[in-house]
Amino acid sequence: MARIIDGKAISAQIRAELKEEIAAMKTRPGLAVVIVGSDPASQVYVRNKHKACGEVGIYSEVHELPEETTEAELLALVEKLNRDEKINGILVQLPLPKHLSEKTVIAAIDPRKDVDAFSAVNVGRIMLGDYDFLPCTPAGVMELLKRSGIDAAGKNCVVVGRSNIVGKPMAMLLLHANGTVTVAHSKTKDLAAGTRGADILVVGVGRAKMIGVDMVKDGAVVIDVGMNRDENGKLCGDVDFAAVEPKASFITPVPGGVGPMTITMLLKNTIKAARLAAETE
Ligand code: NDP
Repeated sequence: MARIIDGKAISAQIRAELKEEIAAMKTRPGLAVVIVGSDPASQVYVRNKHKACGEVGIYSEVHELPEETTEAELLALVEKLNRDEKINGILVQLPLPKHLSEKTVIAAIDPRKDVDAFSAVNVGRIMLGDYDFLPCTPAGVMELLKRSGIDAAGKNCVVVGRSNIVGKPMAMLLLHANGTVTVAHSKTKDLAAGTRGADILVVGVGRAKMIGVDMVKDGAVVIDVGMNRDENGKLCGDVDFAAVEPKASFITPVPGGVGPMTITMLLKNTIKAARLAAETE
């Protein structure tokens, strides 16, 4: 039987710590969230971020722009937010409508306000191990490991998925933590052989229950980043939780595992951005 890593509880604990930290700060950190268009999932994420900010005492504003917003209009808003002193963090909710270049828009965010850590400057700094912000989801996973007493040093760590948001930075953070890291993806020849070698397995693919019990080593730590709907429309991860849980030593559920940590890490980055701004005043 695995120990269930309760992301909701760990997240609540961190948010309580952040609330205290903010209460002791001279100026209130501020976050601006920009959403373009009316994608329902994005609207839910943005609402949750706004609500979470309010709960810990971060000032937040949501800029809702219509689907037909031009790139010039969006860039003008980003520039305005870059100059706005009460805003320490800027988050442009992805995906953007097709006619807008995510690359151009992210590049326009001041790296000191890039609390998603998606810009080339911040990605490069993570690679070098000299960073102010970590991308929220992989940072959340590292925090879950830390607070569960799991050390990646010397362990075989297998990351399934290599996206810029999840897999690649996840692999880099495990490497910084002295794990021996393998990254698997859609072109990997024998995925199961790879995952069976993992002491720590992190899966971020987006395919419901694709990791079965035969793909996991006895006593492995299993972290499930995936968010999918199963055949009954219920939220589920990339790991077949019911089958894998008895074999793992630790496992994250979906929902209630990695998910709650992502927003918590965004809050943490916003506080860090406010501290950086205060240092340069
Ligand atoms: P992407 O679609 O950008 O990346 C998916 C990755 O999985 C790709 O690298 C792809 O490989 C790989 N992949 C696809 N099929 C297979 C396969 N059969 N075997 C091995 N690897 C495969 O997704 P994201 O990284 O953005 O998201 C991944 C999942 O995590 C999604 O379910 C998403 O909803 C969830 N997520 C959850 C978050 C949270 O807060 N909990 C935050 C962000 C994402 P290739 O590169 O070769 O195409």
